[in-house]
Amino acid sequence: MDIHFQCDKCQMKFKVNAEKAGLVIPCKYCNAEIRVPKFKDKGADSMVVPDTKIRVRCSNCDSKYKVRDKHAGTIIACKNCRAPIPVPQA
Ligand SMILES: [Zn+2]
Ligand SMILES: [Zn+2]
Repeated sequence: MDIHFQCDKCQMKFKVNAEKAGLVIPCKYCNAEIRVPKFKDKGADSMVVPDTKIRVRCSNCDSKYKVRDKHAGTIIACKNCRAPIPVPQA
């Protein structure tokens, strides 16, 4: 994958291998030092999955919560009364 960028000084456009992301390289044309921008992988952004929340209810004080699905199958403490609340699997 190549990174496309432009020299600040001479405005020449380049592409370099993504391995050079974040490095300072000399411009081929004017020899200015230019920093290669970090390669932005658009695919990576869209792979960020929003946290899935699980609804739980405290049987002791009737408080309702949403907890992250990483707590599924565990027992959390009620924020209100500290009673243990089993979190169901998502
Ligand atoms: Zn240049
Ligand atoms: Zn409670």
